[in-house]
Amino acid sequence: MTKGIKFEKTCYLYLILSCCITLYCNNLFSKLESIRYIKSSNFLQIWIKNWDGDSATIQNNIEKNFEILSKHFLFHETLPQPLSVIVDGNWKKSSGYWSNQLRAPDNSQALLMTPASILDPNQNLKLFSHELMHLLHYQFRPHEHAWIKEGLALLTEYLVTGYFNSVLEEGFKNPTTSLIHFKNLDEMDFQIQNELSQYGHVLQYFYFLYRLCGPEHLQDVKATKYNERFIEEILKSKSSLAGIEFLDEVLRNTQNTNPVCENFDKSFTAFEVARFKKNIMKPDGYILISSHRASLQASPGFDLPPYSAGAYILPLQQDGCQKNEIPWGERKCIRIRKE
Ligand SMILES: [Zn+2]
Repeated sequence: MTKGIKFEKTCYLYLILSCCITLYCNNLFSKLESIRYIKSSNFLQIWIKNWDGDSATIQNNIEKNFEILSKHFLFHETLPQPLSVIVDGNWKKSSGYWSNQLRAPDNSQALLMTPASILDPNQNLKLFSHELMHLLHYQFRPHEHAWIKEGLALLTEYLVTGYFNSVLEEGFKNPTTSLIHFKNLDEMDFQIQNELSQYGHVLQYFYFLYRLCGPEHLQDVKATKYNERFIEEILKSKSSLAGIEFLDEVLRNTQNTNPVCENFDKSFTAFEVARFKKNIMKPDGYILISSHRASLQASPGFDLPPYSAGAYILPLQQDGCQKNEIPWGERKCIRIRKE
């Protein structure tokens, strides 16, 4: 294994120098881990580096997850061929990673995962589906904004596994992050509390759209497939628009009769109110399981970044909510900032 790692480092240098040498290096790389066909027209390649542990389980888990994802409606017959998974024991920044620049040694498109995350039964499929969605989304919509990329990837985790990423809770604990002003994925630290809360915020919003703003409400079980198409539209649309303007277009074309789904602005307002108010009897007020509700601010003196919201209990000396705030019951106010 040590020998293999040495080869690998040398090959990275050579990759820069010459593509002929790259081909030579690839033969050495491929000896580090087997390459297996998943189906005749589709390749999965695994590149393990900086890892001396149990590579058989790693390979098995990746292949198992790849098979599940290949059959999922979001990924079915849309994955690049070949697809490479780089398993890097030295990667510390996050459990998984994807970038448009990331390539396997044979120059195929790749996503990266740590050995620990692949060996974690609660994490591996979620993470694989998340990074794979980033990779696929870029094929269809390279110009899309970071917050939509992230919202879609986080929602994908839920659509594939039925479980939410734990950042969901962070988004309720610290609800005042901006929905749309995301750092580029490359600049993310993945550890800072505010970033985790922001991930939670965008996951909540995309789940809200999925539940309410597809062609049918998900209260009707048969509507699932229509709402899946709605998510596919967000993933695959040929529209040149991006960000808020793109969501406006998608929502307009969907023609959902729910007024909160008419455009981004209306969906954003309804979503932010629902995060605080939580009314499980009313579809627009129902986002997630009933125990979730966003935390309140200690006093009215808080600042909000663009496209965010906060709520507070009225202090005794204050008569009512400020202008542009939404009264909530007798003594609470919801403040929403857009631009
Ligand atoms: Zn992501």
